[in-house]
Amino acid sequence: MSQKITEIAEKLNLTTKELKEKIIQLGFDIKSNARTLDDETAELVLSELSEEDEENNDKGAAKIYEEIYDKELDKEIIKKQRKQTAGKTSEKDKSPQQEEEKPQSPNKSILIPTVISVKEFAEKTGINPAKIIGELMKNGILANINQQIDYDTAAIIAGDLGIKIKKKRDEVALEDLFAGDLQALLKEDDKNDLVARPPIISVMGHVDHGKTKILDYIRHANVIDTEAGGITQHIGAYQVEKEGKKITFLDTPGHAAFTAMRARGAKATDIAILVVAADEGVKPQTIEAINHAKDANIPIIVAINKIDKAGANPEKVKGELAEHGLQAEDWGGKTIMVPVSAITGEGIDKLLEMILLVTEMENLKANPNRDAVATVIESHLDKNLGPIATVIINTGTLRIMDNIVMGTSYGRIKIMKDYSGKNIKTAPPSTPVLIAGLSKTPQSGDILQVVKDEKTARLRANQIETLQKNMNKEGINAGKDIIARIASGKLKTLKIVLKTDTKGSLEAITQALGKIKDKEVAIKIIHSGVGNINESDIIMASASRGLVVAFQIDLPSQAKKTAEREQVEVLQYKIIYNLIDDIKKLLSGLLEPEIVKIELGKVEVKKIFYSGKKDMIVGCKVTNGKIENKAKARILRGEEIVGEFEIGSLKKVDETVEEVKEGNECGIKIPRKSDVQEGDILEIYKEEQKIRTL
Ligand code: GDP
Repeated sequence: MSQKITEIAEKLNLTTKELKEKIIQLGFDIKSNARTLDDETAELVLSELSEEDEENNDKGAAKIYEEIYDKELDKEIIKKQRKQTAGKTSEKDKSPQQEEEKPQSPNKSILIPTVISVKEFAEKTGINPAKIIGELMKNGILANINQQIDYDTAAIIAGDLGIKIKKKRDEVALEDLFAGDLQALLKEDDKNDLVARPPIISVMGHVDHGKTKILDYIRHANVIDTEAGGITQHIGAYQVEKEGKKITFLDTPGHAAFTAMRARGAKATDIAILVVAADEGVKPQTIEAINHAKDANIPIIVAINKIDKAGANPEKVKGELAEHGLQAEDWGGKTIMVPVSAITGEGIDKLLEMILLVTEMENLKANPNRDAVATVIESHLDKNLGPIATVIINTGTLRIMDNIVMGTSYGRIKIMKDYSGKNIKTAPPSTPVLIAGLSKTPQSGDILQVVKDEKTARLRANQIETLQKNMNKEGINAGKDIIARIASGKLKTLKIVLKTDTKGSLEAITQALGKIKDKEVAIKIIHSGVGNINESDIIMASASRGLVVAFQIDLPSQAKKTAEREQVEVLQYKIIYNLIDDIKKLLSGLLEPEIVKIELGKVEVKKIFYSGKKDMIVGCKVTNGKIENKAKARILRGEEIVGEFEIGSLKKVDETVEEVKEGNECGIKIPRKSDVQEGDILEIYKEEQKIRTL
């Protein structure tokens, strides 16, 4: 179903043109000749643009709320929520942060935006505006009631009046949310709000070295018993308790998931446990895992596993790890290495203790008293609950009935469960939870943000979808992106995944790259190895926004597809000199745009209509291809090129046109000095600037 734009415009007292402009401002993709809007968009636009609708909308939300509750939530939650919301029907949609905004709770800070009018300040604090104006005057500021004051001024006045205020978090830019820029979302103005949070652990390492077994052992031995009777559900993460402290484990072993998430800008791991089998030692995926963790700048704890086996040789493993930059503490280095057995359980307790130790050193903190920001770990369609997702809270507290947006998915949390399947109402930082009530399944790595109401959630998800569509249309080219970032001075380190045919060439290229000295940009090889390019190499480059450089090796089709999907540039070389030269050029910004000539077609000059002092007008026939206005032309007389010019204007009969196709006649205005003659052939071409991709 759809609604007419003219009718919507009428309802809003706008012209259709004004309405379309506003719809675009709201972030919707709308064609200039569109006549209708689908029902959902129409509803959103109407509620967004009409003030009067606000109240009705709240009533609608309240109704949905009742229905959802009666049907789906356990009785306890219903009772509690009703108690909380009793008597404030119109505030049902408000998030905890907004609740704090309400004036007058003693000892509670009132949230004030970066800029506020005296009137709004008076309303929020409940203080007479005249008194505020008086206080401002005492501080040398002459203000009227509509005057805007900044937060610092408001803080001084508040201090004088004995009120506690706090700066309201600025809304995160849509682009940041889209790009999953967690830094922007997690920013805290006041460090005093931060408290310690549990660490989030990823287990990585070579296949069959015992990652799953270690995760299973820890879970069974340490998981906190719940009313639900132990673990009933696999949600992709779980928590254990050690010495009264919680630890969150991501239950998808291996670095693939970890890196895929990083590639989407998410940060869902604080500490990596690197599992190395004591009987096998360091293997290719061990090295990959080390490099992934290093590039993500997270600490590594090594679990030397399978020490119960006859051939176990932990000391040999330590030696091999030292070759890859991980020096054990008892070898004079800094990396904690714990010998363990996932079969007998030996050393596992020690491993957990070490995790707590590193957590303390890392000083992991978050602010539980704010709206939650979380990262999607996994998601799927459940036959009873619809789209569901597991998220881990980065900061804040996630609450049941919070309105949320995650990428292009949005919703209201109708059900929230912990890893054991127990219904919970609040989830503090670092907790993994399963949530239901979503419009569709989000992608792992999407960032969850709490917004004030369902309408905003829908709007944001829509805006993100439009952004995504536009970006897909434009097609990002990783090479161009890197060049642009070098040019703007934003790129400080060019990250390279280097793969070569032999160990010898790997060493030679690594050395040669090491010698390139650029003032602005450093080169960092984040991972290197011998052999074909695999998907993991591509994902790694994608996660670090770097390049894959390959020497004398193939790019298998699967890796090629991944590179296209992830928009990673893969540079392949057969000659070392060319490889080094291109990297040098790239760094020094020498990849100037190339001028490319595009041949458009040929025209024959039939008649000279006019020949003045400055211009001539000639009649031509397009014999091949097409002619475009403002294109360039080579004059061909017989076999010889006798001149060149730019087309001044192009006409078909009497009408000025932008192009004329093969078989048609046209009139063109050209400079007199080009001296075209009847019978000449004009070769039409245009020049385009093309950024040189590598
Ligand atoms: P993953 O691929 O790293 O997840 O490895 P798994 O956890 O699936 O383990 C691979 C194999 O090694 C399985 O057969 C495990 O039973 C075995 N394994 C894992 N840990 C140990 C250990 O500490 N001692 C012994 N003897 N075998 C182990």
